[in-house]
Amino acid sequence: MPAPLVAVASLGGTITMTAADGPHGVTPSLTARDLTASVPGLARIADIRAETLFSKPGASLGFGDLLRALDWSRRAAADGAAGIVLVQGTDTLEESGYFLDLHWDRPEPLVVTGAMRPPQQPGADGPANLLAAVLTATAPRSRGLGVLTVLNDEVHAAARVRKDDTTALDAFGSRPFGPLARIHERSVHYAALPLRQPPVPRPRDGGGHPRVALLETFLGDDGELLRLALDARFDGLVISAFGAGHVSAAMAAVVSEAVEKAPVVLASRTGSGSVLSDTYGFPGSEQDLLRRGAVPAGWLDGRKARLLLWSLLAAGEQGDRIRAEFAARAGGTPSTVL
Ligand code: ASP
Repeated sequence: MPAPLVAVASLGGTITMTAADGPHGVTPSLTARDLTASVPGLARIADIRAETLFSKPGASLGFGDLLRALDWSRRAAADGAAGIVLVQGTDTLEESGYFLDLHWDRPEPLVVTGAMRPPQQPGADGPANLLAAVLTATAPRSRGLGVLTVLNDEVHAAARVRKDDTTALDAFGSRPFGPLARIHERSVHYAALPLRQPPVPRPRDGGGHPRVALLETFLGDDGELLRLALDARFDGLVISAFGAGHVSAAMAAVVSEAVEKAPVVLASRTGSGSVLSDTYGFPGSEQDLLRRGAVPAGWLDGRKARLLLWSLLAAGEQGDRIRAEFAARAGGTPSTVL
């Protein structure tokens, strides 16, 4: 049987970053072909087509770049790729993976990966992550699962994963549900499958993209930053609130004003768990904010809630449609099947 075709594109990131001798920091320099050529045995697993789309640090990627990567991936799948791998900086990997997942409308697995250590550092993890990503992209079980985030021999649902360490090799985790699969002796062992929702339509080119602000609350926050965001006329606002969805009483009053001007989504700043809906009753509690008109982000953290709100606004959704989409996409848990 011929090896499956896997399309690999590089957007940049640490996995591509090298430094000249001397006191210089690492910067993106390796191409997608350099990366695939550095992985022993890769050609025995798949017929690789490699292309460099960008050479950027993760921090400088934007929606336009991600839409280009999405279109490239769709074309690669339409041209016969069994799976697609995108390599990029881990700083924004959790956001780009979820954004792509919202818009990925094909059964072929779209796998995103990167590296925590640059190629010249001892113990560099880029080649192992790329190998694991290609294995995942070619695994029959990966079909229909949307976008998968692969690092450190773990496969995560892009809709759940977060980067929660600055340098550790196991910086990516999917609290509280855990990874979907482990890579073991060059095969992918699934233990859970994600619940997928229909894709959100791809935003049209041209015209302005929505502006959605993400604000994390803090001790002593009286809502002044939220008011500034309102004055700046953002199209949507996401609040990373305390604990299970709480802000100060002073800020709650500003939330009431905000919901009159733009959709306001309530997420938690904790990094794990869902916002509550009917436990606390004090001013600024989750019940109070939902009564004032905030939309609960459910299990989505603020970063992912911002991407969902952005995508819904870009698709022209408003009011109750936004609320319904959040209810459908932000709830639920992966179902264990094996
Ligand atoms: N530290 C980042 C990375 O792991 C740098 C970046 O996101 O480009 O790739």
